[in-house]
Amino acid sequence: FNSIGVIGGLGRDGRVPLTPSSVQELIRSLEIEVYFTSGSSLAAGYSDLEYEAVGAQVVSKQEVIRSADLILTTNEMDFVSELRPHQYVVGVFNFLYHKERLVPFIDRELTVYSLDLLPRTTIAQSMDVLSSMASLAGYKAVIKAANLYPSAFPMLTTAAGTIKPAQVLVLGAGVAGLQAIATAKRLGARVEAFDVRSSAKEEVESLGAQFIEVEGYAESSAHGGYAMEQSEAYKAKQQLLIKSRVEKADIVISTANIPGKKAPVLMDKSSMESMHPGSVIVDLASDQGGNCTESVDNQTVHHFGVTIVGSSALASEMVHASSTLLSNNYTSFLKHLHKNIDNPLDPLLSESRMVDKGVCTRPTINTESKS
Ligand code: NAD
Repeated sequence: FNSIGVIGGLGRDGRVPLTPSSVQELIRSLEIEVYFTSGSSLAAGYSDLEYEAVGAQVVSKQEVIRSADLILTTNEMDFVSELRPHQYVVGVFNFLYHKERLVPFIDRELTVYSLDLLPRTTIAQSMDVLSSMASLAGYKAVIKAANLYPSAFPMLTTAAGTIKPAQVLVLGAGVAGLQAIATAKRLGARVEAFDVRSSAKEEVESLGAQFIEVEGYAESSAHGGYAMEQSEAYKAKQQLLIKSRVEKADIVISTANIPGKKAPVLMDKSSMESMHPGSVIVDLASDQGGNCTESVDNQTVHHFGVTIVGSSALASEMVHASSTLLSNNYTSFLKHLHKNIDNPLDPLLSESRMVDKGVCTRPTINTESKS
């Protein structure tokens, strides 16, 4: 490809896929043209002039679509029907869960790379958008909960009495969960955490939190370090234990996910009923069905006096930071793509290429159903 078109930042999600310094770096190292959508970077804290100053052509969205060989976006799709056959698209689309999103790419005979499909290996670390966004989301989830919680996180001793520290429960100790633990600890809360992967125990404890264990988890290295779906017996045992900890928690940050599947249900109505009024749940898995039966994606709801924030896109609320990290991930990927685009066996490209000139690379996927 000889040109990149940048689309993103104009809708509800204000993240911009490339910052001015990344544009400069790509023009210098790949000797390509960059077409940038005018006015799309304001939410992220950059002006059109800054893009022009580093050599981008700042034009309308239509002009970007018309001029560029490769379109770089966040997760926007409203422009896909306007693309030409065989144009490239790079973004983060979570096709394994949202299979219906594949349809317009197939219909337009496009080639699409979705960076959430990259293997979590050392060589792909600099392109790991999932880790960048999860880390910001874990931090923001705690800040959000602290704002909504009607008491304080640290123990406060005053002449008028003592306020006890908040009890925080983190469900799922992956990238987002570990960042949530670290943030809650820094704010002075008491923190405990649960994950099905026993390997998470050491990481949780190294952050000063207590690890909750359920025995009998089946692990397999075939899942690339990700969690596996468990037996009904394990799930029942797990739900009982989690319920007993949810009852005692003031704040629950839930981040448990299984790639491509509905998120595991860890809290139901009765768990919420058992919490004291004023408690807060932030459910980061709400886009994949949620860890809490009552959470609604992108909404804050209340049940039995408990506030439940459903948000799987919290990183987008820190739009400058998330644009910076995303831009670094994309720059690293685009350099790799430019160098290896003609190598059909490149492992990073073959894993992330979900549609190749209109053909889905995973033929077993049914684009109509969610699993
Ligand atoms: P994720 O977003 O898919 O899931 C979040 C967490 O939820 C995971 O820790 C998972 O084990 C947990 N979980 C799933 N089902 C659960 C359940 N029923 N109850 C409780 N917890 C449950 O995962 P992630 O944060 O993106 O990370 C996944 C794995 O990838 C981790 O092992 C992580 O260490 C690894 N990783 C590796 C690299 C690398 O560069 N090698 C980078 C990032 C992450």
